[in-house]
Amino acid sequence: MARNPKIGVYICHCGINISNTVDVAAVRDYVATLPGVAVARDYTYMCSDPGQGLIVEDIGAHDLDRVVVSACSPRMHELTFRNAIVGAGLNPYCLDIANIREQCSWVHKDRDEGTAKAKALVASAVARAALLEPLETREVGVIKSGLVVGGGVAGVQAALDMARAGFPVTVVEMADHLGGRAMDLSHTYPLMERADDLLGQIVGALEIHPRATILLNSRLVDVSGYVGNFEATVQTHDNGTVTDHKLRAGAIVIATGFDPFDARLKPEYGYGQYPEVMTALEFEALVSPNGPTGGRVVVNGREPQQVVFIQCVGSRDRSVGNPYCSRVCCMYTAKQAHLVQQSLPQAQVTVLYMDVRAHGKGFEEYYDLVRETGINYRRGNPAEVLRRGDRLVVRAEDTFAGEFVDLEADLVVLATGMVPRAETAEVAHLLKLSQSADGFLLEAHPKLRPVETASDGIFLAGCVQGPKDITDTIAQAKAAAISAMIPFARGMVKVESATCLVDEDLCAGCGMCEEICPYGALRLDTHLGKMRANVVLCKGCGACSATCPSDAITLQHFTPRQVMAQVDVLLSV
Ligand code: SF4
Ligand code: SF4
Ligand code: SF4
Repeated sequence: MARNPKIGVYICHCGINISNTVDVAAVRDYVATLPGVAVARDYTYMCSDPGQGLIVEDIGAHDLDRVVVSACSPRMHELTFRNAIVGAGLNPYCLDIANIREQCSWVHKDRDEGTAKAKALVASAVARAALLEPLETREVGVIKSGLVVGGGVAGVQAALDMARAGFPVTVVEMADHLGGRAMDLSHTYPLMERADDLLGQIVGALEIHPRATILLNSRLVDVSGYVGNFEATVQTHDNGTVTDHKLRAGAIVIATGFDPFDARLKPEYGYGQYPEVMTALEFEALVSPNGPTGGRVVVNGREPQQVVFIQCVGSRDRSVGNPYCSRVCCMYTAKQAHLVQQSLPQAQVTVLYMDVRAHGKGFEEYYDLVRETGINYRRGNPAEVLRRGDRLVVRAEDTFAGEFVDLEADLVVLATGMVPRAETAEVAHLLKLSQSADGFLLEAHPKLRPVETASDGIFLAGCVQGPKDITDTIAQAKAAAISAMIPFARGMVKVESATCLVDEDLCAGCGMCEEICPYGALRLDTHLGKMRANVVLCKGCGACSATCPSDAITLQHFTPRQVMAQVDVLLSV
């Protein structure tokens, strides 16, 4: 007869994150008295190497069968602790996590209440842990090729890295050329290199790479499959004809970029009304060496003598629904003001700003250099741009001087921010990805998994995940490419084992579960009238199990018995 499981419980302080609100020692002493608990410990940082070492040591010394870690959300460190117990010979599913940080210490102020709730949460996890069953670890083979959606700087860099690493890659780009919006810039800051020269190097390298296939004028219209084995449908438009391609790939990198903020949504700045008001991207085209004037700053046929730059147009602005910082406007404004100063040394150049965020390598030094050239930085909130005679006037509050000022201008440049590309919601729907509150695609975790999504095998690169400059875009693209290639190198990929099980004897073939499954993991066998589950596609969300009127579906690792054991404990304390 199998013995009762011996359980080890580990309570994390998270520095003072948990221990400030929860009496960790009291929780430990309480838990030590619960049935099945062989050892209970607390430690400052359970996810640290010494913290994990405690667990590993105890599994051997106390012959533990199950482990409960009471710490942060399982989204944060479930994998860390699963790997730790596997290293000590336990099955990864012999672990439960009690979230006493996000669900307890972070939402309580009162120490007694926080401690009481932590005791209840840990006790309920212990009750479930006693009923956990080892699950078989599953691996599936991998198609060793990549699919990159979006051919801007991020997509080009990610694809180039995959191709150079030896794997075939296909890039799907909606436009008729690669490089995206960055290729339209005049220069890059802070080194003032020509953008087309710099970025043309990686675009050119990809275009001639023998392992790269580039589909221009193309869009992704369907995706099925799972990590290691995706099948994508891509439409290519060519002179009125549409071709249907089917592609197979082991990993997908989404790099569909951003849209510039529509300056017409700030009508007080006169964009679209006065030709002397232009967006930063339009200014880039004007001063580009390839532009209509060969790089000379000319407005209405003459060189402007007074130029005003307005920062944060559509960023950090709740009135247009964009509370976030676009992270590039401070520095590109400094660059553009610098270009005006170099081109027109006699011109008076003013920058109206809220704060200057010069956060990158060499940025603060560049900002200092720009100011030393005589550019006038005024901390001010622009109220409106209006016409007076043949000139424009920018009316603003100087927030240092505490006074309203009227600045005459014959050119006003709006530092428009970044917003999610119009197609982002469509991409999210197609790939079953989530968007964050700002509308950009959501990463799996902002610190630990910044280029992954919640869907295995699908990665994010560049501004589709949030505003960033070229440096950060390239860094993220490289990270996405490397993450995508990990399964290529192994040839196999692990898939989740905590998936659903259909009991065919109980299934009545009603089809309700197939309709509700968000991952397409269930298909009705119409011949037998029974539901079939593809456990590789199943993400273990539990929706089918909760829906089935015949109780024919069980979610492994969250069986009714395991869940009810937790509920019983929570109701009894
Ligand atoms: Fe903090 Fe989680 Fe690490 Fe504990 S395991 S120290 S709660 S991050
Ligand atoms: Fe079968 Fe239940 Fe699905 Fe209906 S909901 S098809 S009974 S498994
Ligand atoms: Fe689909 Fe979720 Fe059921 Fe898995 S558990 S088959 S993902 S509904």
